Amino acid sequence: MSDIYKGYREPALAILKENSVRVWSDVEMNTNRGDFKGIILPRSETSDSNHIVMKLRNGYNIGIAVNTIQHIKEIDFKEAHYKIPEQDFPKDKHKSNVKLLGTGGTIASRLDYRTGAVIPAFSPGELYGSVPELADYCNLETEKICGVFSENIEPKHWKIIANSIGEEIKKGVKGIVIGHGTDVMHHTSAVLSFMVQNSPVPIVMVGSQRSSDRPSSDAALNLIHAIKTAAESDIAETMVCMFGPTSDQYGLLHRGTRVRKMHSSYRSTFRTISDIPLAMVDKEKFTYLRNDYNKRRSDKNVIITPTFEEKVSIVYYYPNMQPDIIDSLIDNGYKGIVIAGTGLGHVNKPLYPALKRAKDKGVAVYMTVQTLWGYVQMYVYETGREMMQLGVIPAANMLPEVTYVKLGWALGQTNDLEKVKKIMLTPIAGEITEREPYNGYLIYQGGIPEVEEFLRGIKR
Ligand code: ASP
Repeated sequence: MSDIYKGYREPALAILKENSVRVWSDVEMNTNRGDFKGIILPRSETSDSNHIVMKLRNGYNIGIAVNTIQHIKEIDFKEAHYKIPEQDFPKDKHKSNVKLLGTGGTIASRLDYRTGAVIPAFSPGELYGSVPELADYCNLETEKICGVFSENIEPKHWKIIANSIGEEIKKGVKGIVIGHGTDVMHHTSAVLSFMVQNSPVPIVMVGSQRSSDRPSSDAALNLIHAIKTAAESDIAETMVCMFGPTSDQYGLLHRGTRVRKMHSSYRSTFRTISDIPLAMVDKEKFTYLRNDYNKRRSDKNVIITPTFEEKVSIVYYYPNMQPDIIDSLIDNGYKGIVIAGTGLGHVNKPLYPALKRAKDKGVAVYMTVQTLWGYVQMYVYETGREMMQLGVIPAANMLPEVTYVKLGWALGQTNDLEKVKKIMLTPIAGEITEREPYNGYLIYQGGIPEVEEFLRGIKR
């Protein structure tokens, strides 16, 4: 191939032009790394101009360096159309009013069948347009708060969501659904459990692992379960509602502070950690698995505390971690550090001087466990006792991410470290529990054949 791309600011574009190939063309491409067949995708904002991105027949995207391409031939051209028809939601005065607040994520995306590309294309009307069954459960109003993949969620979004929830409750809605990316859904569910207290209605977070118009998508069913939960369930807490087992039998309702994304691609990715979920939900009914939850009420006395100190960090300990990691946080003005320690909550001795420095500088340091299940226990080994003397505070059985958001939330309210400690160690929304039931360790949540079998046994 000629060196046409050389000297161009947009080498990828130059090579496409020279071969009369357009974005969205179905092509055969010969390179010095082999031959490929697939569709030329538009370049995302972040990719560089020396690569062409191609969707292969097997669904995978690959980036091909321009300087390896020998020849490209267009076989077909399939332009993408992004629009889903919008539909007005029908009103029924016998049904509850539910508000859907959209923040983005895969649930707000759709996939173009012909190209296989996932495209953020959220509008609440489109969302309803693709799942008309939602009208069976409620009168739905929708509002797009933001449109980001959840890895881009920031405390400013958390504050906006919390305030919007407060406003909707004051307006009298009977339930709230928050559409959100799954990646950090558990951070958001935890922080909302603290920012929004004493809610009289269910606050249900929902997302999807596969975009809404893929045949295997979990978007519609998750949405139906979430809407049903918001409209009809008795649980007035912040919850996550996502696929229970790997198949589409039922959804699980997880308490916002005890839930975590546990699988990068399974639809049944969310699991309640160290406890059992609140309930199972399907299109017809709820199966409550416990009764120690806040019940639905008819008042509007919600308490919104949308505070967050952004100078808080979480540090995942690894063998041979050096103190400069902690020191750099102190030097950069961080006010709180959560450590995810090994075992019962440990780090190595080389970190001790840095921990002492953090204490002397008034930085709040909390310990959690990487094992996720179980409590921090710093009285068992000398390491734990020494660290407590250096000011590290054990965070009981709060999950590391939950401790992170709770510390940000608490430090957003006060710099008085004694007050912060009181807030941190007082259970607010199930983030610290007195004991962890044995069946909170995986059982009860479906997803693998043995557990399904177990569930069938106890439900009989
Ligand atoms: N990265 C996406 C997000 O968290 C994934 C998803 O929505 O499931 O927004």
